[in-house]
Amino acid sequence: MKNLTLLGSTGSIGVSTLDVVRRHRESYRVHALVAGANTELLATQIGEFRPDIAVVAAEEGRDELLRRLEAAGIARSEWPELLWGPEARVRAATDGETDFVLSAIVGVAGLEATYEAVRRGKRVGLANKEVMVASGKLVTEAAKESGTEIIPVDSEHNGAHQCLRAGSRGEVVRLILTASGGPFRETPREALSNVTPEQALQHPTWKMGRRITIDSATLMNKGFEVIEACWLFGLSGSEVDVVIHPQSSVHAMVEYVDGSVIAQISATDMRMPIQYALTYPERDAAPVPRLDWDQARSWTFFPPDFEKFPLLRLAYQAHEAGGSATCTLNAADEVAVEAFLNGEISFPAIAAVVGETLQKVPVRQPGTVGDVMEIDGESRRVARGLARKLTGSPRADVPLAKA
Ligand code: NDP
Repeated sequence: MKNLTLLGSTGSIGVSTLDVVRRHRESYRVHALVAGANTELLATQIGEFRPDIAVVAAEEGRDELLRRLEAAGIARSEWPELLWGPEARVRAATDGETDFVLSAIVGVAGLEATYEAVRRGKRVGLANKEVMVASGKLVTEAAKESGTEIIPVDSEHNGAHQCLRAGSRGEVVRLILTASGGPFRETPREALSNVTPEQALQHPTWKMGRRITIDSATLMNKGFEVIEACWLFGLSGSEVDVVIHPQSSVHAMVEYVDGSVIAQISATDMRMPIQYALTYPERDAAPVPRLDWDQARSWTFFPPDFEKFPLLRLAYQAHEAGGSATCTLNAADEVAVEAFLNGEISFPAIAAVVGETLQKVPVRQPGTVGDVMEIDGESRRVARGLARKLTGSPRADVPLAKA
C-alpha cells in the first residue's frame, strides 16, 4: 500500500490522479491532499478519500474548509488535520508517512514542497513543469544526492521516459517532443492580435487548467517542456526537437544512434501517464481508451513556426543562457498570461512581455530555493510593469525584444 501526498488535488491533474486512486484502492491510500482555494471540491475529496492531512493556500481557506466539513456532516473525529500555507505544504510532502508525492500544483507555488520531497528522497511524480523550468539545476542535484527518482507525468516526458527504456543514454541521439500546435495552429500571424481568451482556452486535444491551456496556444508550454526534458533526461537544448503533430497521439520519440526511432503512443488521457508514474517500473491496466487499429487514421507531423510562436525560441534561448533565465521566463509568462486572461493585454503581447522581462532581469546563479523565489518575485514585478504599459494596446506589432 503506497501512501500518497497529492499537491494540487483540486486541479485537472489532481482530479485525474484521484480517479486512478479510486480504481486501485487496494494499492494506494491518500495521506495528504494539498489544494489552493477550491475548498468546495477539497471538502468533497476529503469526504471520499479521508486523508490524514488537508492543506489549503491561506488561513481564510482553512476556516472556510472547516465550515464546509461541518456542513457536510462529517464527524469531527473523521476530519484530517487542517493546515494552510507553504510550511504545511512542505510538511505534507515530506513527513514520514508519505511514500509518493504527486506534484501537480500550478506554478512556483509547488516548488518548495516538491524540492523538499526530492531532497528527502521521496519518489515524486512530476506534473508541475514550472518546478524544473524555474529550478531544474537545484532539483536534479537534490535528486542525485538523495538517490530518488523523479517520474515525469507530463505526457510528453512520460512518453520519453518510456522510449528511453529501449536503449542506453549513450545511444540516444535526440528526443523529439510533439505539440498539437494549439488552437491557433492555422490562424495567420496577423490575426493573432485579435484572438480572445475564450478562443485561446479552446485547446483542440487536451482539457487542462487555464494557464497551461494558454501556454499551449502560445507554444510557451512546449518551450517549458524542452527545458524540463533537458533537466529530466540530461540532454542539451540542441538534442531536444519539437514537432507539430495535431492529433496528439504520438507523445514523444527518441532517436537512437543506429537511426531507429522509438515512439510512445497512447490516448490523450492523463490518467495513463499518472498511473505509469505511480506503478513504475511495473504497468497496470489503465482506464483509458485503446487505439482502434481497425479504423483508418492518418497522423501528420511538421516543424513549428518559430516566427509566429516566438516564445518557443525564447525558451531555447533562456535555457542556453542558463542560471536564473528560465526562472524569469516562467515568472514573466505567468504574469503575462494572467494579464491576457484578464483582457488587459493582447495575445502577441504575452511574448513581448516575456522577451522584455528576460532582457531586463539580470541572469544569476540561484544557490537555494529561496534565491529562486526571490528572482521569481523580481521577474514578476518587472513583467507586471511591462504588462501595465501594454494594457489596452490591441496591436500585434508590440516590439518584441530579442532574448
Ligand atoms: P489546474 O489549474 O487545473 O490546477 C492547479 C492546482 O494547483 C489546483 O489544485 C490549485 O488549487 C493548486 N494551486 C494553485 N495555487 C496554489 C497554491 N498557492 N497553493 C496550493 N495549491 C495551489 O492545473 P493543471 O492540473 O492543469 O496543471 C497542474 C500542473 O501540471 C501545471 O504545472 C501544469 O503545467 C502541469 N501539467 C498539466 C497537464 C494537464 O493535462 N492538465 C499536463 C501536463 C502537465 P485550487 O484550484 O484549489 O486553487
